[in-house]
Amino acid sequence: MSTTDHPTDRTGTGWDATVLGYPRTGPRREAKKALEALWAGRADVAATEEALAAVRARTLRRLNALGLHAHDASIPSAASSYDHVLDAAVAVGAVPPRFADVVGPDGRVDVAGRSTIARGRGADAPLEMTKWFDTNYHYLVPEIGPGTEFRFADDSSVREFSEALADGFLTRPVLVGPLTFLLLSKPADGAPAGFRPLDRMDDLLGAYADLLAAHAAAGATWVQLDEPALVSDSATAGVADLPGLVRRTYERLTALPQRPQLLVAAPYGDLGELLEPLARTGVEGVGLDLVRGRLPEVDGEAGAGLREALRGTLVVGGVVDGRNVWAGDLPRALASLRALEPAAAHVAAGTSTSLLHVPHDVADEPQLDERLRSWLAFADQKVAEVVVLGRALRDETAVADALAASARVRADRAGAPGVVRPEVRERLAALTPEAFRRSDYAVRRSAQEEVLGLPLLPTTSIGSFPQTREIRAARAAHARGELATESYEEFLRAEVDRVVALQEDLGFDVLVHGEPERNDMVQYFAEHLDGFAVTRNGWVQSYGSRCVRPPILFGDVVRPEPITVRWAQHAQSRTARPVKGMLTGPVTILAWSFVRDDQPLGETARQVALALRDEVGDLEAAGTRVVQVDEPALRELLPLREADQGAYLEWSVGSFRLATAGAGDATQVHTHLCYSEFGEVIDAIDGLDADVTSIEAARSRMEVVPDLARQGFARGIGPGVYDIHSPRVPGEEEVADLLRLAVAAVPARQVWVNPDCGLKTRGYAEVEPALRALVAAARTVRAELDGHEGHHGRDGRAPAVGAGGRAG
Ligand code: GLN
Ligand code: ZN
Repeated sequence: MSTTDHPTDRTGTGWDATVLGYPRTGPRREAKKALEALWAGRADVAATEEALAAVRARTLRRLNALGLHAHDASIPSAASSYDHVLDAAVAVGAVPPRFADVVGPDGRVDVAGRSTIARGRGADAPLEMTKWFDTNYHYLVPEIGPGTEFRFADDSSVREFSEALADGFLTRPVLVGPLTFLLLSKPADGAPAGFRPLDRMDDLLGAYADLLAAHAAAGATWVQLDEPALVSDSATAGVADLPGLVRRTYERLTALPQRPQLLVAAPYGDLGELLEPLARTGVEGVGLDLVRGRLPEVDGEAGAGLREALRGTLVVGGVVDGRNVWAGDLPRALASLRALEPAAAHVAAGTSTSLLHVPHDVADEPQLDERLRSWLAFADQKVAEVVVLGRALRDETAVADALAASARVRADRAGAPGVVRPEVRERLAALTPEAFRRSDYAVRRSAQEEVLGLPLLPTTSIGSFPQTREIRAARAAHARGELATESYEEFLRAEVDRVVALQEDLGFDVLVHGEPERNDMVQYFAEHLDGFAVTRNGWVQSYGSRCVRPPILFGDVVRPEPITVRWAQHAQSRTARPVKGMLTGPVTILAWSFVRDDQPLGETARQVALALRDEVGDLEAAGTRVVQVDEPALRELLPLREADQGAYLEWSVGSFRLATAGAGDATQVHTHLCYSEFGEVIDAIDGLDADVTSIEAARSRMEVVPDLARQGFARGIGPGVYDIHSPRVPGEEEVADLLRLAVAAVPARQVWVNPDCGLKTRGYAEVEPALRALVAAARTVRAELDGHEGHHGRDGRAPAVGAGGRAG
C-alpha cells in the first residue's frame, strides 16, 4: 500500500519526541561480545544473529519504557552489526568484487560476510576505515566504480523493521542517505581518472527506490535518511551546485510512487542554506542539529522563504546533545523548539545526532560522586529529556516540575566546588603572549645540538612498546586488588629496564621508556588530573566491536602532583642516551574525552595546557632533555565548516604552544601526529613550533615530506618509515629507500628516523626485526650522505635529487 497519498502526520498530530539513533553495543557490550565470539569460532552465524537480535529487541522495549511511543515510528530501527555505512553498501549491492563470494544467492550478506568485508581476509584488504565527521567513530569507506551494479540487494533493514513490527513496535528504519553515501565513498581501484562516486547518483537512486518501496510494502510509515555530509564543507568540496544536487536527489525520491514518509536528518552541524531547497523537495520531515548548528531564521522578512518551505514539514529539532554527557538545559531547549513552531507544520523534540556517541545509562555508574552523577545524562537520560520536551510542546504545565528540575541541575553544576577553581582562572587570565612563545628556532637548535650531540638522521620511536599479555595481566590484577601497588610498580620498572636495554642494543639515539604504565594515552592523564572523572561502564563504539570509555571532563583542570616524572627519571637512570618524556597534548585529551559544555573548548584546552606545562617543567628539572607532546587528534576536531576552522586552529595550536613554550632552549620538544593527509592543517603543524614533528608516512611513501618542504617547514621532521598498522616486517633496503626519498625532499639535517606510530598493538616478534632494519637503514643512508659531504656542503642533502630541496 502506498502511504504517500494518505494524510500524513504533517498536520500537527505527529510524534512529539524522537531520537535519531541509540547505542548499538548493548549496556554490557553484548553486541561486541557476540561479534568477537563469532570471530573466535566460539559461536556460529545463527547464534550471533540471535544475540544481535536480542540487543535490538531490548532497545525497542527500553526506548518505549523511557517514553517513546511504540506505534507511531518515533522509535528508530538503527542497529548495525558492524557499521551503518557498510550496511548501506551491502543494501545497494556495492560489495567490492573481491568479496563477491560473501553475498548470498538472495543478495543478503550475513554477519560473517559483513565481518569479512570489514576486517579483510588474507590478501583481500578490508574496506578502508576512516573517521565519521568530527567524531571518534570510524566508518568503512565504500568503493564505488563505473561498473558497480547498484540494486536493492540486501533486505536486512526491511527484515529488521518487520521483526520489530511482529514484536509490537512500528519503528522508523534509519538508512544512510544517498548523498552522504556517495560523498563518503571513494573511487574503486581501476576507476578512470576524474571519476567520482557521485557520478553514479542516478543508478544509486534506482536501488534506493526499490529499498524504500520494500519498506513501504512491509508497512513502514516513515524512514529516516541520514545526510550528515551536507553539513561538512570537506565532504561536499568540489560539488558545483550543491543546492541543485540536493533538490534533484530528493525530488526524485519524493516523486516515487510507493514510499514511506521521509525524515531527512542532518546531524553534526549546520545545514545552513541547504535547509530551504531540501524542505522544498516535499520531504515530510527534516531533522536539524540545533546544538552544533544554528537555529534557522524563520521570522520576519528574512525568514519568509524558509517559512514557506517548511509549511508542510515536520521539523525534528535536535536540541538534546547527542555528543555529550551533560543533562541538558531543558527550558532553553524548549525555547528553541518554540521558535520553530510558527514556521513548521509540526515540531518534535529530538537529539542533535544519534545517541551512538554516548554510553547507555548513568545508573550503571554507581561509583561516581553522587553530585557529579546528578549532572549527567547518558543515552537513556537523553531519551527521557526529549520525551519531557515533547510533552512540554503540548502542555508545558504538565512537565513544569521536570523543567524546573533541569534548571536546578544546571545551576547546581555551575556553582559546585571543583567546577570553577579561582586559582586556575587567575593563572589563565594573567598569561601574557610570552607564555606562548619560545626563542627563535635557530637559537634552540644550536642549544639542543650542544646538549644532545646527535648524529645525522637520528633514530627514535614514537613512545609505546608492545603491551604484552604480561603487562595487561599485571594491570588487570592490580586493578582487581590482587597485585599490590608496590609489586606492580616493580614489575613496570623491570619492563622499562628491558625496553631501555633493548633500544640500546638496537642502537637507537633517542630512547623512550615504552609507556607500560599507561592503559590509554588519554585515560592515563585523566586519571591523574583533577577535573576529570572516569566511568566503569561508559563504553562508546569506536568501530566494529571496538569500544572506548572516554573520561568526563567536568571541572577546572589542576595537576595535583607530577604524573610522568618518576617513570621518565627511572628510565633516564638506566642509560646515558637521552630518554624522551612522553605527554599527551591538550587537543587530544579533549578530543577523546567528554568535555564540559559550559565554557568554550579553547578555554578548557588552555587549562589542560597549563597542567602539561607544569609537567614539562618538572620533567626538565628532573633531567629530561627531550619532551614529546602527542597531538594525534589535532585534525579530528577540525570543524566541518571552513568558516569555523581558523578559530579552531588558533586555539588548538595556542594550547599546544602554551603546554610546551615553558621549555628551555636546550630542551628539544617533539610532537607526533598520526595521519598523513595534512591538507587542511599543514600551516597548523608549522604553527605548533615543535623542534621535531613525527608523522605517518610509510604507506604514502613519504608524500608528505615534499609537501612540508614546499611549505617552508624548516624544523625537524620524522616521517614514519615503518608501517606499524601492518604485521609486516619491512626490510632494511625498503626503509633505506624511504629515507632516501625523505632526504631528497628536505635537507638531511632535518630528517629523523622513526616508525609511523606507537608500537603498543604489535608483538615483539615483528617489532624487533623491524626496528633493527630501521637502525641499519639509518646507518646506511648516513654513510651515503657522509660520503658526499665534500661535494655538497654541510646541509647533508642527498646528492641524487637536488632540485626539490632548499639549501639548509
Ligand atoms: N606516544 C603514543 C604511543 O606511542 C602515541 C600514540 C598515538 O599517537 N596514537 O603509543
Ligand atoms: Zn600515532
